[in-house]
Amino acid sequence: AKSGPSAVTNTMGAYACQRKTPLEHHNAVLTDALLLLAENADFCTNEGRSVAFKRAASVLKALPGPVRRMEELQGLPCLGEHCQRVIKEILEHGASSEVEMTRHSEHYQAMKALTGIFGVGVKTAEQWHRAGIRHPADLVSSEHKLNRAQRAGVEYYEHLRVPVTKAEADRIGEIVKRAVDAVLLGAEITLTGGFRRGKQTGHDVDFLITHPDEGREEGLLPKVVSWLEDLLLYQKTNKNSYLEAKEWPARPPSNMDRFERCFSIFKLQRPWAALEEPPQSGERGAAETPGWKAVRVDLVVTPVSQFAFALLGWTGSQLFERDLRRWAGQKGMSLSSHALYDCEQKRYLRATSEEEIFAHLGLEYIPPGERNA
Ligand code: ATP
Ligand code: MN
Ligand code: MN
Repeated sequence: AKSGPSAVTNTMGAYACQRKTPLEHHNAVLTDALLLLAENADFCTNEGRSVAFKRAASVLKALPGPVRRMEELQGLPCLGEHCQRVIKEILEHGASSEVEMTRHSEHYQAMKALTGIFGVGVKTAEQWHRAGIRHPADLVSSEHKLNRAQRAGVEYYEHLRVPVTKAEADRIGEIVKRAVDAVLLGAEITLTGGFRRGKQTGHDVDFLITHPDEGREEGLLPKVVSWLEDLLLYQKTNKNSYLEAKEWPARPPSNMDRFERCFSIFKLQRPWAALEEPPQSGERGAAETPGWKAVRVDLVVTPVSQFAFALLGWTGSQLFERDLRRWAGQKGMSLSSHALYDCEQKRYLRATSEEEIFAHLGLEYIPPGERNA
């Protein structure tokens, strides 16, 4: 007899942190469509709808094979009526009319271009859109005021659109290591974010910095930043503002953490190495290809006692993080990138590894490469 997929699908947890989501999966056509609708919902400031589409896409990423018939979706979590309608149309006709209409809509395209500028969120993009701005180039000649981050975002727009490769991330890692070593002996840096999940490209490079002696890491970033000065096209450094409360504060922990941090844009020299031919003069693009590339880099400093939480919180994916916090809440705990608090026992649960945090939460350990929810 033909075996149905129900044995697999019935056991899938509704939280992304309950399942393994590899980087490569079998349903990219469907997930690309659902994620475009999620993105568009974000552009319309409809977060609930956006999360619903992201959850549905994430469930499909975790399936062991490609979906061919609607019956195979039976028993799967997070697939609402709207998602099913989109999936059905794609399975039957190869494309979804709603997705294609959205993709080509003027609002979607303008919002995609404008929110693609570093320092620009949906609110600002929407204001500009209403004022007739459609593209970063429109801002150069307009009277709209840009803050420092946005000015850098517009200036390096074409650079920052190009994905960062793993090789570039590693080269930046070496530079950051050199800077950190120069200002604080024994400090350690860890590559986090998408690259730690095994991605080969990313929109930025994320690093965690710590020191084995608690307290030594305080005030590290301004020194690192001044060491790096000539290599930074932009930087904004914030001090650590985290204070452990006697009791967990009434407001829920936000997904913005309070570590000492630096959001920056690096000027990375291109190595015209054996792999990469130098541009020949006269060839297309040679004139405008500069010998460097602007790359977004996030540096975050954590006290070593919070390192495991920071690592878990900065490895992502964003949906995985969101569901970890939701899962913790449902278990009477509160999770942030700093700590885990047990609201019933009224105490912090310490951990020195990600494995311990998963254990505290009553979850099977999911390695970084399978957190691509
Ligand atoms: P990409 O390859 O596109 O960079 P990514 O998964 O690395 O993908 P990021 O936006 O760099 O995405 O974020 C990495 C992780 O860091 C995410 O899981 C996110 O939760 C966390 N993070 C990002 N920004 C902040 C912030 N301001 N405060 C706290 N955590 C953040
Ligand atoms: Mn990243
Ligand atoms: Mn980042």
